[in-house]
Amino acid sequence: MIIRLIIYLVLIYFAIKLIRGIFSPLQTKNKEAADETEEMVKDPECGIYIPEKDALVKKIKGERYSFCSDECYKKYKEKVR
Ligand SMILES: [Zn+2]
Repeated sequence: MIIRLIIYLVLIYFAIKLIRGIFSPLQTKNKEAADETEEMVKDPECGIYIPEKDALVKKIKGERYSFCSDECYKKYKEKVR
């Protein structure tokens, strides 16, 4: 039965979540420490801050810009032109 299999998978998913929740205080602490050292860059198109490693870095007229997505890059490129 496929439905039974889905129910089992859902139960396993929640069990894993619960187990992770027990250990989460340690994990979140480590994550915060990692976030602090992370360099944040601003997307000139939508104005949000993104971690440098996740940013889409593009060169426009010799200037380096960091974007959150390809759409923002395209929009900004249109504006600058
Ligand atoms: Zn953006």
